[in-house]
Amino acid sequence: MTSILGTYARKDISFKKGKGTYLYSENGDKYLDWVCGIATNILGHGHPRLVKAIQNQSKKLWHVSNAFIIPEQEKLAKRLTNFTFADKVFFTNSGTEAIEGSIKIARKYFHKIGKPEKNRIITFEGAFHGRSLAALFAANNKSHCEGFGPKVDGFDQVSFANHEALKKAINENTAAIMVEPIQGEGGIKVVPDYCLQGLKELCDKNNILLILDCVQTIFRTGSLLGFEKSKISPDICAIAKGIGGGFPLGAVLATEKTSVGMTPGTHGSTFGGNPLGASVGNAVLDIVLSKGFFNNVKKKGSYFHEELKKLKDNFPKIIEEVRGINFIKGLKLKVDSTEFVSKLMKHKLLVVKASENCIRLFPPLTSTTKELSVGLKIIKKVCQEYKN
Ligand SMILES: *Cc1c(COP(=O)(O)O)cnc(C)c1O
Repeated sequence: MTSILGTYARKDISFKKGKGTYLYSENGDKYLDWVCGIATNILGHGHPRLVKAIQNQSKKLWHVSNAFIIPEQEKLAKRLTNFTFADKVFFTNSGTEAIEGSIKIARKYFHKIGKPEKNRIITFEGAFHGRSLAALFAANNKSHCEGFGPKVDGFDQVSFANHEALKKAINENTAAIMVEPIQGEGGIKVVPDYCLQGLKELCDKNNILLILDCVQTIFRTGSLLGFEKSKISPDICAIAKGIGGGFPLGAVLATEKTSVGMTPGTHGSTFGGNPLGASVGNAVLDIVLSKGFFNNVKKKGSYFHEELKKLKDNFPKIIEEVRGINFIKGLKLKVDSTEFVSKLMKHKLLVVKASENCIRLFPPLTSTTKELSVGLKIIKKVCQEYKN
């Protein structure tokens, strides 16, 4: 009997080692890992640069309070602002905390400029923003929220891609619109660039803020945060998952203007951005920002997409739709996704489900084309099993 609280429906397997794209189970089996800790081990397992970063920093200094200057954190923040829309960064340990921070910054902004009545956030059906009480009721997923009332107020939800409903939901109390550029848990649903642009215009016109939840999209589209192709600039952005390459690290990115309310004492975190975490974050950036890295991700991503499309064309009774961009991909299935995931696992490919009967495919960005083809072959094999 496990002593772990029963919140996870766990697969009956554990791993003793990870190397690159592969995980090794206790009984010695080798698995291709396209779960990647749910889009988190962005550079695979045991990347030598990350190992070195954590070893070096661990000998010097693990943790000091945010009451003191943390040079590794300063450096990571400087780089994140240099390469994004943001001017200011607040570090967290998780995506949920980055979402909480985003909401707080938005509300505090309007409080600071003398419009405290603007404190409500518009969100979208199918969203996932984390498991804190506010993040839960922001996303308003019925099964996640059930039993955790009273409801945290301050969120107005509209259906995904319903422009009229969105316009109607905006009123004098609206502070912000919060959206994932690609709904992850919701089933790898991409918000098209023109919609992101429309959202931004709507925000500007109504003097409200745009919060992007890039916790899952970060790096995987072949750009830093995941919305750059749309050319829009949000006011606030939450990141986590990939930024720590497997180490718990997240951040809120914000513009200078939006950050005016966040003065000393208004927010804080004990662990967020400590020397160990920030060092790993810097090592992740060293790699993803190196010359040609994202171009390579896009190249491999377009191969991946084409091959997935071929699978869909060859197995139209099994695969309904190929979703996502580059290394954040999903397959909407016509067969039961839970069963499909089990079958893939029998053939030593690990993937994770999402809503709308989808499976999510999160190969590490360091995967070779050859490794991608290994996974694709396993998907093909499983599709063939259904045919027989
Ligand atoms: C995973 C996720 C979160 C929550 O992140 P945690 O690190 O689990 O707290 C929030 N938003 C999105 C889009 C996510 O994918």
